[in-house]
Amino acid sequence: MPVELIGKSLEELGALAERWGEPAFRAAQIYHALYAERQFDFGKMTALPAALRKRIEAECTASLPGVARRYESSDGAARYLLALDAAEGNGGAGAAATIEAVFMPSEGRQTICVSTQAGCAVGCRFCLTATLGLVRNLTAGEILGQVVVLLAGEAARLGPRTNVVFMGQGEPLLNYDATMAATRILLDPEGIGLAARHVTISTSGIVPGIERLGQERVRPKLAISLNGSNDEQRSRLMPINQKYPLATLMAACRDYPLRPWERLTFEYVLLGGENDRREDARRVAKLLSGLRAKVNLIPWNPGELPYRTPEAAASEEFRRILTERGVPAFVRYSRGRDVMAACGQLASIEQSLAGAGTSVS
Ligand code: SF4
Repeated sequence: MPVELIGKSLEELGALAERWGEPAFRAAQIYHALYAERQFDFGKMTALPAALRKRIEAECTASLPGVARRYESSDGAARYLLALDAAEGNGGAGAAATIEAVFMPSEGRQTICVSTQAGCAVGCRFCLTATLGLVRNLTAGEILGQVVVLLAGEAARLGPRTNVVFMGQGEPLLNYDATMAATRILLDPEGIGLAARHVTISTSGIVPGIERLGQERVRPKLAISLNGSNDEQRSRLMPINQKYPLATLMAACRDYPLRPWERLTFEYVLLGGENDRREDARRVAKLLSGLRAKVNLIPWNPGELPYRTPEAAASEEFRRILTERGVPAFVRYSRGRDVMAACGQLASIEQSLAGAGTSVS
C-alpha cells in the first residue's frame, strides 16, 4: 500500500523522513510543498533531491476527493459532490462514500463549507443528512482535501481571504481527532495558512467535544447549533439534547475559554410556528444573557421536510427581541449561500442549487 501523504502532520512526515534516513528538514520541505504550495506532483517538488523525489513517487500517494458533480447557483455558490475512496483506520466503516462541500464567494473573500463525516448519526429532525445515518468518519486528509479541491476548482475567482466552516455533513466533534488534525494544517502558517478567526467548527452541542476544544492550543472559532429555546422543544428538534440538555450545554459555553477577540456564534434555524415565537426569542435571550455571543437566525428554506418558512415579520421580531436584550442577532435571509450558515442545512442546498438550473461538471 502506498503511504498517503495528504493529511499528514509535520511530525508524521518527520517520522517518515527518519525511517528513510533523511534529515528532519526534508519533512518540512515536503510539508511546505504539500500544503503551502499545494504541489501534488512529487516530481515537481524541486526543493527535494532527485533521489528523494523518486522514492516518494515510488512509495507515496497524494489522493484528493474526486469531483463527481459541481452545481453552481445563481448567486455564485458552487456545490461539489465529492467521491471518496474506501479509507481505513478512521473509526468508520471505511467504505467508499460521497460527501459534499460548498464554495461561497463574496466581496474579497470566499467561504468553503466542508464535511467531517459521510452522513451523520446525530439525527436532527430538520436535517436531510440525518436521514443517511452515519456512513463513516472522514480522515484528516479527506477533510483537508475538500478545501484543496475547492480552492483549485475555483482558482479563477478566488478573493484574497478564505474562510472555512465545518458545517457540511456530519458532527465535527464526533470525529474530533481527524477534524483537529485537518484544522491544525489549515491554521499553520507553514501549511494552508488560514487565520483562526477565519475557521469555524459548528457543533450540535457535543459537550465533551466543546470542553476538549477549549483546551486546544490551536483552535478555530466555535459555533453552536441551538434551534430550540427550551429542553422540550430542542429535544424534539435535536434528540442530542436529551444527552446534553440546555443547562449542561450552556454551562460548557459559559466555561469555554474565549480569546480576547472571540465570541461564540449560536445558529438558530427559524421554523415557522415551531420555534419562532416571541416567547422563544425571550427564552433564547435569557439562555445567552451574559455570554459573549452572537446569534445567526436562519429562516427555514422550504424543502423536503415538513417545516414552514417563518413570516419575515416573525424573523425580524425575533431579532429585535434578542438585540433589545443585549444579544447581537442577525437574520441570514435564505439565499443559496445563507442556508449554509447552519449545521445540517447543507443537504437542502442541493435542491436550491440544482433548481437554479445551472450545472455541472
Ligand atoms: S444538523 Fe448537523 S449534527 Fe444534526 S444531523 Fe444534520 S449534520 Fe448531523
